[in-house]
Amino acid sequence: MAITACPSCKKPISDKSKVCSHCGFDIGNATAEDLERKANFARFQKMHNLQNQSLIAIFIFLAGIGFLYWGGSDPGDTPYNLSIAAAVVGFAWYAINRVRIVLAKRN
Ligand SMILES: [Zn+2]
Repeated sequence: MAITACPSCKKPISDKSKVCSHCGFDIGNATAEDLERKANFARFQKMHNLQNQSLIAIFIFLAGIGFLYWGGSDPGDTPYNLSIAAAVVGFAWYAINRVRIVLAKRN
């Protein structure tokens, strides 16, 4: 008995089992086309998730920058430092997501 990844949810399952114990996917009756469709859907969801994360990252970045300009706090204040941190974190998260999207598209 070996462990393989479920074609639907990618969780580890026995290669002897006909139905995934995690998501109930019927592996025994799945055609190559079903598996292909599942893989495409999983890829689409992953890409969608990464794009959502990019949007949140941009929002955090803009919120940080916006507060720096219009927040009215002086350099050295805690809100000022927090908004710089938010801008840096947002930008870094966005940059990481761009790389992850490029890598996901390549596969
Ligand atoms: Zn599954």
